[in-house]
Amino acid sequence: MGDQDNRFQAQNDVQDRFAAGAQYIGGALRAGTSGRRHAVVDPASGEEVYGYELAGPADVDAAVAAAREAFPDWAGATPGERSDALHRFAAVLADQAGELARAESLQCGKPIKLSTEFDVPGTVDNTAFFAGAARHLEGRSAGEYSGDHTSYVRREPIGVVGSIAPWNYPLQMAAWKILPAVAAGNTVVLKPAELTPLTSLMFAQAATEAGIPDGVVNIVTGAGREAGEHLVGHPDVAMTSFTGSTAVGKRVAELATATVKRLHLELGGKAPFVVFDDADLEAAAHGAVAGALINTGQDCTAATRAYVQRPLYDAFVAAVADLMATVRLGDPFDPHTDLGPLISHAQRDRVAGFVDRARGYATVVTGGEAPQGELAKGAYYRPTLITGAPQDSEVVRSEIFGPVLVVLPFDGDDEGLALANDTPYGLAASAWSRDVYRAGRATREIKAGCVWVNDHIPIISEMPHGGYRASGFGKDMSAYSFEEYTQVKHVMYDNTAIARKDWHRTIFGDR
Ligand code: NAD
Repeated sequence: MGDQDNRFQAQNDVQDRFAAGAQYIGGALRAGTSGRRHAVVDPASGEEVYGYELAGPADVDAAVAAAREAFPDWAGATPGERSDALHRFAAVLADQAGELARAESLQCGKPIKLSTEFDVPGTVDNTAFFAGAARHLEGRSAGEYSGDHTSYVRREPIGVVGSIAPWNYPLQMAAWKILPAVAAGNTVVLKPAELTPLTSLMFAQAATEAGIPDGVVNIVTGAGREAGEHLVGHPDVAMTSFTGSTAVGKRVAELATATVKRLHLELGGKAPFVVFDDADLEAAAHGAVAGALINTGQDCTAATRAYVQRPLYDAFVAAVADLMATVRLGDPFDPHTDLGPLISHAQRDRVAGFVDRARGYATVVTGGEAPQGELAKGAYYRPTLITGAPQDSEVVRSEIFGPVLVVLPFDGDDEGLALANDTPYGLAASAWSRDVYRAGRATREIKAGCVWVNDHIPIISEMPHGGYRASGFGKDMSAYSFEEYTQVKHVMYDNTAIARKDWHRTIFGDR
């Protein structure tokens, strides 16, 4: 099939699949009841590919009720039963890999290469990982700590988890939010971003096909202010798990705190990329370009601020500019396309705003414009390299979320590491050096949830993902995520069978 055929097929598939609506509640699709329609737009063409009714508060209530009803049986299933269901889930997702990749590229404008090689296999692998991990939930202690009692720890699910996800990796974010929660025996209501509901819905349908009971995974597709806030404030939701911007995360935290909910926040990032003067220049330049441009820069861990030690600085800037010029913008359905459009024209204009303002105080070395011709109708923006920006300028400190890399020089190692830590964020970072001691110092001193050495971006199901500081708290992926989605109960048995215990002296005196 040609690129256009794939696009039409993707469009027909989603229109057929979601003809009944974009709310998945209790194992069935239905239309939202907010009275407001929303369009999923292909950002490569600017055209609507699917329209639906947004969820209103009544839809959120229905989804929470379905999740609440499903909770006792799912929480009571054995780890082996949950594991079996998740193994089947991984197999269903693998069977649907092609359709999932096409839908993800259609709604996000992601190059099909990226959806096929990264988003979908990552999701299948995550599902398989949690199928295994479901059987390894355990409390850490059991013993006679007081001498007179046996204590042990039970790890229990929390209840209904209300999750909210962003638009940059819709399928992977749905997987990261839903899998650890469900593996641990919780039930979930997920609200995807309004722009990108399609693959979250497919993910939930695949869970049902795999035999995961109705109501365990529910999707409400509504506006943040309406459906999102209603979900966070809902009295029957025991936990809020949010991935998105730091600004919205603060609002979500206020609402969750008001109803005393468990809270997990995965927020924005502004990852530093520190190149010491003994680094492999070719590796660092390739790493910076790939790390900055992945997903058109709409990645919370993307390399955004490269600090390069003075002796390598000029050569690094030149190498990055040359490599950026080789990146092919194009139709997301063309397998040769390296860089797709941004998620929307609004996001493209936001990115262009940052770059245009930077022209007043910095140098735009390459890029800094939308392409003309064939691509002009899409939300495209050229890979952009900025130098000479002051450390306190907005392109260095704020999350741009587009294909923009800022490169700045530094002198001593102390300075490089101090600059790396000089934003409110702390999600991810990388250090580039051939010296094991230098790299080791960077891994200790950079305040971020992940520090790569001589690479930037790779993630893996076994390892945790999550931020420090304004990037939030809590972990996605890996067994560490179970800390978010379980509560720990101490059970203590008296072993003495004595009616008047020693410690009762505090109440009954010496009588
Ligand atoms: P966003 O914060 O605008 O929206 C995220 C989600 O929150 C959406 O579903 C949105 O509808 C919802 N929302 C908006 N207002 C709300 C409100 N008042 N109450 C409840 N929900 C509300 O973020 P975005 O623009 O969709 O995504 C980009 C952001 O996500 C970036 O800041 C990026 O760094 C961050 N992100 C972080 C991670 C991570 O793991 N830390 C991963 C991916 C994306």
